[in-house]
Amino acid sequence: RVAYVNGLYVPHAEAAVHVEDRGYQFADGVYEVCEVRGGRMIDERRHMGRLQRSLRELRIVMPMSLGALGVVLRETIRRNRVRDGIVYLQVTRGVARRDHYFPAPDTPPSIVVTARASIPAKVPAPAISGAAVITVPDNRWDRVDIKTVGLLPNVLAKQAAKEAGAREAWFVRDGVVMEGGSTNAWIVTQAGAIVTRPAESGILRGITRTVLLEVANRLGLTVDERDFTLDEAFAAREAFISSASNVVVPIVSIDGKTIGDGKPGPVARSLRDSFYDVAEFARK
Ligand code: PLP
Repeated sequence: RVAYVNGLYVPHAEAAVHVEDRGYQFADGVYEVCEVRGGRMIDERRHMGRLQRSLRELRIVMPMSLGALGVVLRETIRRNRVRDGIVYLQVTRGVARRDHYFPAPDTPPSIVVTARASIPAKVPAPAISGAAVITVPDNRWDRVDIKTVGLLPNVLAKQAAKEAGAREAWFVRDGVVMEGGSTNAWIVTQAGAIVTRPAESGILRGITRTVLLEVANRLGLTVDERDFTLDEAFAAREAFISSASNVVVPIVSIDGKTIGDGKPGPVARSLRDSFYDVAEFARK
């Protein structure tokens, strides 16, 4: 395996950044995860758009042109022979003597790209069998719209989920479901409406979420972008989560309570089935 680190392709086992990298010391950086299918990135354009926004919000300069970055992403996928998997990209404010203030303006941002194939599932994929979620209080900062590497609340929440035998943890604030530790949250009401929280604040605007909203519209399904409460989720006909690495995973239980009939529902399935009709396949 090979990783791209600040201009060089190096053996993955030896890929390293400096101990005074601001990503390491302050979580002063952003990232993107893009699905790779058939060797092609899914929704590269949207992921790069979100990357630029995250960088702008944190006043980190874009380390290279989008064109050059595209070449690095493709080359990392190619060198790792990834057909189906993910490509990971991280940009930090660079290396400087530890000090909270931004480093000198000529400090180059650090950039790292890795790619790996998805592990073939030994057990039935959650996409087929459905998965469980637990809920946790949302103790994150209020700029979760920025895709920063500062993910400690997410790490703790997801570990709690794992220890409870669940796939994901949903952050709940004032009774309202915000999103998962690394996914957006959705329900289907008994009336059949697809509900997901507006992305104006309090959640990350998932690329998969954006594409699925378009998929739902094309399928003629009713979509309601609004807050939903945990009580509404308990009473929902279906629930599911979305992210670039998993697309759609049906949720069959929340905090141990069965959702719907306890089986993956038809709406989650049809959204998943039509996802790649709407998602953009980048060139190789
Ligand atoms: N919400 C959070 C907190 C995430 O970390 C992620 C992805 O990592 C998502 C939502 C889903 O976003 P996307 O569909 O762009 O992968």
